[in-house]
Amino acid sequence: MPHKYTSPILEKIRNKSLEEDLELVHGYALDYVNSVDDMPVFPPKKAIDDLKLFDEALGDYPQSTRDIIDQLHNYGSPATVAQTGGRYFGFVCGGILPSALVSKWLTDTWDQNPAMHVLSPIASKIEAVTEKWIVDLLGLPKETVAGYVSGSSTATIIGLTTGRNYLLQKMGYDIFKKGLVDAPPIKIVLGEGAHSTVYKALSIIGLGSDCAIRVPTDDQGRMRAEKLPKLDDKTLLILQAGHVNSGNFDNFESLCNYAKESGAYVHVDGAFGLWAAANPAFDHLTRGVQLADSWSVDGHKTLNTPYDSGIILCRHKKMLIDSMHMAGSYIILSEDRDNMLYTAEMSRRARAIDLWATLKGLGKTGVSELVWELYQKAVYFADLLKKGGLEVLNEVVFNQILVRFQTDDLTNKLIQDIQKSGVCWLGGANWEGKSVMRISVCSYKTSYGDIDLSASDILRLATNMK
Ligand SMILES: *Cc1c(COP(=O)(O)O)cnc(C)c1O
Repeated sequence: MPHKYTSPILEKIRNKSLEEDLELVHGYALDYVNSVDDMPVFPPKKAIDDLKLFDEALGDYPQSTRDIIDQLHNYGSPATVAQTGGRYFGFVCGGILPSALVSKWLTDTWDQNPAMHVLSPIASKIEAVTEKWIVDLLGLPKETVAGYVSGSSTATIIGLTTGRNYLLQKMGYDIFKKGLVDAPPIKIVLGEGAHSTVYKALSIIGLGSDCAIRVPTDDQGRMRAEKLPKLDDKTLLILQAGHVNSGNFDNFESLCNYAKESGAYVHVDGAFGLWAAANPAFDHLTRGVQLADSWSVDGHKTLNTPYDSGIILCRHKKMLIDSMHMAGSYIILSEDRDNMLYTAEMSRRARAIDLWATLKGLGKTGVSELVWELYQKAVYFADLLKKGGLEVLNEVVFNQILVRFQTDDLTNKLIQDIQKSGVCWLGGANWEGKSVMRISVCSYKTSYGDIDLSASDILRLATNMK
């Protein structure tokens, strides 16, 4: 008889009921939700200093779940950035909608592996349904498929890989067998305002930044069509729905039509801006975006899903799958959706459930109103700052505002003072050679009251500096 070893540690963990711990976490989560709006938006020095407590060696023996959760709540919660409150305007970060937060709690207890239908029929079903919803909501071609990834960075890697392979295969080159080493050249064309993650993606997939032709942009960061090089069927054209600073959109209608005529492949980085396509009032920004071949978009920005929610959308299902496919003797695909075919990952969180719950919690109208409200609030915010004597450098067409206070030095100093003050948080950027403050209105939680409070703090600090 083999010895039946039982770890006393695991035995203890198995025998303890989860009930008490789940209730404890429930209480702490409520504490956080109820206090987040009163917290300084960036954690104070003391909270950050207290993080020293985490610098400990891993203990020899287990700690109770209660101790772990206590440590996280007592020292972790105060050191969080209050992104789920209403006055965080840094980078482009959304809040978290209730339907998704609570679905995530429940589905985390399921701990599903969504790689294949046989691993999780529910995850397979939800990924398929959510794909249809998104394609419909954004008005994309019916044949478009979705892969659920961690964010737009990864979505772009997959989109550009698929585009690269699509072009090479059309040239009669078997990229899957031969790899890139002897591949014919591909022409990469992107705007000067392309996001840094686009360059990262190009580098990861073996197309360094020198391969890219950078098309000059106008004063709003939009690609200047008249500066476009000649496109052909060896070209990968990368466009943008939502410039990370100005929030502006490339002119898809003319650029995509030209690309189609010349046989180029078009990928759109629509990390936060693509959701504008859910509201016809933004038609002047998104018209023609549906003509592209693939799109990357985040749930965790404009849509306010939890983090870890990016989507690669692609109209060439076979090429996407061929590009991401993996085989193994133990892998038998099913008639139903096998999620891993559409992404680089096999095992991962069943992250599409968050997206599904968010979309269901908003409905089509809710998504449409969410993007509209973010825009209206950005316009309102920009207006208050302009009236207070600050300069707004961009046309506020979506949710981004670029603000300047006279000189580079004053602008940078004002950003520091705002960050120290803790009423709101925003960062800086360089725009057309000038220092600017960047404001991103991206959370459903942000109220006009939050904007009033934030704007008056910003203007007070600016006045104090004179
Ligand atoms: C945020 C952003 C990205 C990167 O997305 P992640 O989800 O952070 O990986 C890419 N492009 C644009 C325009 C963005 O705003």
